[in-house]
Amino acid sequence: MRIDLHTHSAVSDGTDRPAEVVGLAASMGLDVVALTDHDTTDSWAEAAAAAERHGITVVPGVEISTRSAAGHSIHLLAYLFDPTEPDLASALAQIRADRVPRLRRMLEGVRAMGAQITWEQVVERAGVAAAVGRPHLADALVDAGAASSREDAFVRWIGVGSPAYVPKRSPSTADAIRLVRAAGGVPIVAHPWSRGRRGGMSADEISALVAAGLAGLEVDHVDHDAASRAQLRALAAELEIIATGSSDYHGTGKTIAYALGACTTSDEAYQAILAQTDRAPWGPKR
Ligand code: AMP
Ligand code: FE
Ligand code: FE
Ligand code: ZN
Repeated sequence: MRIDLHTHSAVSDGTDRPAEVVGLAASMGLDVVALTDHDTTDSWAEAAAAAERHGITVVPGVEISTRSAAGHSIHLLAYLFDPTEPDLASALAQIRADRVPRLRRMLEGVRAMGAQITWEQVVERAGVAAAVGRPHLADALVDAGAASSREDAFVRWIGVGSPAYVPKRSPSTADAIRLVRAAGGVPIVAHPWSRGRRGGMSADEISALVAAGLAGLEVDHVDHDAASRAQLRALAAELEIIATGSSDYHGTGKTIAYALGACTTSDEAYQAILAQTDRAPWGPKR
């Protein structure tokens, strides 16, 4: 079984429609794929229909923007929860709403740094996205010739160290974990040591999240080197939580290193996720 539990569509910052992500996963021979757009479940209906059409198992999910007790941005994957549960739904709506003034402030920042782009250009690049973010601002910078790619835009204009950078308002990771559990879902920290933050979340921080209901860690991810993966896998085993792996596919919004199936989850870990929820994925039962 080939299982990829973290992908994005154009409903957040990927570049493919939800049905295209599902169709591509099926054509690549994946057995299970999770769609985990940032802070929105708007892709779910289209993905569910595509699962039946393509005969692939699709796990409904979301990647929630949260903040750790230490003040770092932490992405929390949540699977198989009730999207109508009011507390979680309103928390996601609040995060999406807060993304708009934050991105406007970042636009003002890059304009002050010399990039002459407009809010209309950013909105146009966001297209159907329900969650707007820096990747859409990056696309507008590329269109304007101010950057050569999203990656380049992050380095030159909108990365965490940039004067234009504005953090998102987001719930604490522990609160988000409790909301996901209350909605019947399974919460897993995405790429805990991504983008050069080796050891970014300490063992103590992670074990405090386990006490709040955390189910697992995304261990195999392109942003983690081999040593980080080994350490995170050992930590997950010690804490008796699930270790997953996934691609974090964003279509052409990220490099080929993040291709579908670039990292995968074991069948055992997938079954452990299913065992923690009453809800079932779409398409064939696996
Ligand atoms: P935001 O949620 O608006 O802060 O944007 C964060 C998103 O930008 C992440 O989900 C990634 O998809 C993307 N991202 C972060 N860093 C980079 C980078 N260096 N190059 C390209 N995309 C990035
Ligand atoms: Fe993203
Ligand atoms: Fe992420
Ligand atoms: Zn992601």
